[in-house]
Amino acid sequence: MKSKTKYVSAVSKDSRQLSRRQFLRSSAVVPLGLITAVAYTKQQNTKIEHIDLFTVRYPTKGYFKFFIGPGGTYGREAVIVKITTGDGVVGWGQSIPSPKWSYETLETAKIVLRDYLGPALIGQNSMDIDGAHKAMDRALAPGFSTAMPIARSGLDIALHDLVGKLKGRSLSQMWHRPQGGPLTLSWTVNARTLDEAEVVIDAGYKRGYSNFNIKVAPDPKFDVGLARLVRRRAPEGFLWADANGGYDQAAALAVAPKLADAGVDVLEAPLKPNRISGYQALKKQGALPILMDEGVVSPVELSEFIRLKMLDGVAMKPSRCGGLVTAKRQIEILLDAGLMWLGSGLTDPDISMAAALGLYGAYGLTKPVALNGPQFLTTDVLVKSLNIRNGSVKVPDGPGLGVEVDESKVVKLMKETTNSERIEV
Ligand SMILES: [Mg+2]
Repeated sequence: MKSKTKYVSAVSKDSRQLSRRQFLRSSAVVPLGLITAVAYTKQQNTKIEHIDLFTVRYPTKGYFKFFIGPGGTYGREAVIVKITTGDGVVGWGQSIPSPKWSYETLETAKIVLRDYLGPALIGQNSMDIDGAHKAMDRALAPGFSTAMPIARSGLDIALHDLVGKLKGRSLSQMWHRPQGGPLTLSWTVNARTLDEAEVVIDAGYKRGYSNFNIKVAPDPKFDVGLARLVRRRAPEGFLWADANGGYDQAAALAVAPKLADAGVDVLEAPLKPNRISGYQALKKQGALPILMDEGVVSPVELSEFIRLKMLDGVAMKPSRCGGLVTAKRQIEILLDAGLMWLGSGLTDPDISMAAALGLYGAYGLTKPVALNGPQFLTTDVLVKSLNIRNGSVKVPDGPGLGVEVDESKVVKLMKETTNSERIEV
């Protein structure tokens, strides 16, 4: 009896000193057993209580043009997002900007999440993901399409993780689809010389990969040589060329038949996405299936681009689309239109990769996926790493994204790579 009184008095003192939000934050590292137990009990308060942001830079190995940041920084930058409900249930997500890929940067993602999209979600019911997207639409007006989609995707992914954990259901179960997988990974060849390409291809083979993405443009002569080299080394593999919008229309029309002759299977993003007539001309030429990537953000412009006969398919990536809600919708639009979709990414680290795998598995992807995080990144923040073996990856199962984030690893990565503090929304 005496000890009970002592306990109550200690709690009451704590309550006086800490606000509810501070208390929830301070007790954030919950033993795994408790999280599982929480997931299956009836939740009383599913409102979003607070959001934590951690800016990190995942260390990398090998050369990739998209890892070059400002001031000589190098690495895969990310804002890790943690959403907590009133009952203390947590969902994890990740925003993965790259200033060499689009205008979104680590700094803009941090500001947008902290000052605009994050505050719009506080007090919202976490179970209503569509409602959360409407709130984010109101908080930040669109440009040509959805505003700051890469920043937004971190919140969308965290909400899916959270809702899955609250319901005790995986992504595929929430969508009433099969889990799918395992998925075959594609190896990225971003080489500055053909000799360097040989080394990169060898490294892929040693890891068990036999399908390749090549980064092409702006030099058509080099690109055709690279395609021939990779096709010679991988006669049976899927060979996917991505120009990241790096050709002009004349160069793209000239190189597409040559890449086809060299054994390329698909040509992604030959032009910048606003070259509408150029895309129409390339699709009409028909030398290779033309996939779009950059510029396809919301389902609205995808439907418009299909109507305008600009593409044969899309290289999907949830982060480009503002998250899983619109990426899933876009896959359905492509399937309805009888067009191709391939699984791709932005060198997604652990958390966003788990989200992409859940989506691609649920929609039965069988072609190799260009999720090259495992090729380039040297660390993760998970309790148990994704299951990757011989160029094949299992679709995570279990509630939400099917992965457990180790918050102490997140904090350590943040301190070591950006020397910053947790941001509280
Ligand atoms: Mg691409």
